[in-house]
Amino acid sequence: MSEVHDLIIVGSGPAGYTAAIYAARAQLNPIVYEGSVTAGGALMNTTEVENFPGFPDAIIGPDLMENIRKQAQKFGAKLVTDDIVEMSLTGDIKTVKDGSGNTLQARAIILATGSAYKEIGLTNEKRLSGHGVSWCATCDGFFFREQEIAVVGGGDSALEEANFLTRFASKVVVIHRRDTLRASKIMVDRAKANPKIEFLWNTEVIDVLGEAKVSGLKLRNTITSEESQRAFTGLFVAIGHVPRSELLQGQVDLNSEGYVNVIGRSTNTNIPGVFACGDLVDFTYRQAITAAGSGCAAALDAERFLAGH
Ligand code: NAP
Repeated sequence: MSEVHDLIIVGSGPAGYTAAIYAARAQLNPIVYEGSVTAGGALMNTTEVENFPGFPDAIIGPDLMENIRKQAQKFGAKLVTDDIVEMSLTGDIKTVKDGSGNTLQARAIILATGSAYKEIGLTNEKRLSGHGVSWCATCDGFFFREQEIAVVGGGDSALEEANFLTRFASKVVVIHRRDTLRASKIMVDRAKANPKIEFLWNTEVIDVLGEAKVSGLKLRNTITSEESQRAFTGLFVAIGHVPRSELLQGQVDLNSEGYVNVIGRSTNTNIPGVFACGDLVDFTYRQAITAAGSGCAAALDAERFLAGH
């Protein structure tokens, strides 16, 4: 407790690990709290990443994260597979407490806790989570061999999940609340060319049916309000993300949706010595490469801050 570290990075993923590479190379001896179950961040739940520069033949999400993690370790970042459960960020010396009860102090903190899956918000969605309702096709797709399953959402995540699930399922129905997809053209073309994928337009899920496991969905047409039911054994929810900023409430400035506000093009929060990067900040681009870039910026901002103090 008496030791005051230069820098603690809270969160992993492309932002946290990239910040760790830069900070370690700058001799800041960063301690990185990777998270007890979410180490590596959102890319740990993806399959092939085709748009991260440097990998013309694509790279598997978890492999990419393991590479970036190793690179941070190679330069001396200390990685801790635990969560930060409490923070006190004001003042020159910041204090954080981890899930094992350790209290650490640092002059600078980089926040890179990323985002969590958004839920539709239905009672039965939560109740049947793990019993047919999932947020991760790569984790759970295997359990739906030769079954008919639904994916909710119209963005890149939904189409990526849908495409992946066709490896197992007999049919994947993408349920979208509008009749235009938000996903990028390459993903749309791929999904539309996949004979196992069907689209259900202008439709929202209003209930998840089933006692012990999912047996179907109650649906509503968003234009006519007509309600219907359809049998499915699985529901994959891919409707975006929410920032993981619960711990930061009342600590740093957040916007109305819970993203951390940073000052201008920097990663500075409103608290001197506290920096934020990645999906915790970014509600616009939200790509692995932009998260990595902002992690780099956070490390450079922290380095300059520490040099000035
Ligand atoms: P997103 O782009 O925000 O899309 C979310 C989708 O879910 C939208 O179609 C939205 O409908 C729908 N939605 C939101 N709330 C809903 C609700 N309560 N009920 C029903 N539908 C709801 O999120 P994302 O697909 O997770 O993608 C996030 C970012 O990651 C994007 O920038 C994306 O490009 C990127 N990404 C990239 C790749 C890739 O390049 N391979 C893969 C995955 C993600 P509306 O369209 O009506 O708003």
